[in-house]
Amino acid sequence: MANKRSRYKEDRHFYCPHCQARIWRLGSSKHFLFYQNAVELKKELNISTKKAKMINTNYPVYVDRTAWIEQFFCPNDGQLWLLVTRKQDQKLSIHLPDRKDWNRTTKTILPDRPNPSVSEYTYRMSRNKDR
Ligand SMILES: [Zn+2]
Repeated sequence: MANKRSRYKEDRHFYCPHCQARIWRLGSSKHFLFYQNAVELKKELNISTKKAKMINTNYPVYVDRTAWIEQFFCPNDGQLWLLVTRKQDQKLSIHLPDRKDWNRTTKTILPDRPNPSVSEYTYRMSRNKDR
């Protein structure tokens, strides 16, 4: 692609978790993960129980700025929503989000899901490409 900008540190290659083809970011909005209790905080941020409880008291909804779900495009699989995490060295890694990751984002990704049980169904449907 023309117009390369070296200042884009995040401009690296990503590969499809399904077929290993190179995939592209679509520049969609980032849906950051948030954690609402000390148990999640401790696990996800790898911190002590004491610190997790302190954070949870100060931030009942803690937004993790290093983890979000973003849209990618795969030439074989089409549009994909992937979980992106920023490591301490600023490198980004991608994973297929599981249901708990989806539930930790603001529910704007799949606007047609009014509640968690329906969302699970919708998510499965979209993954199975049944329609
Ligand atoms: Zn693919």
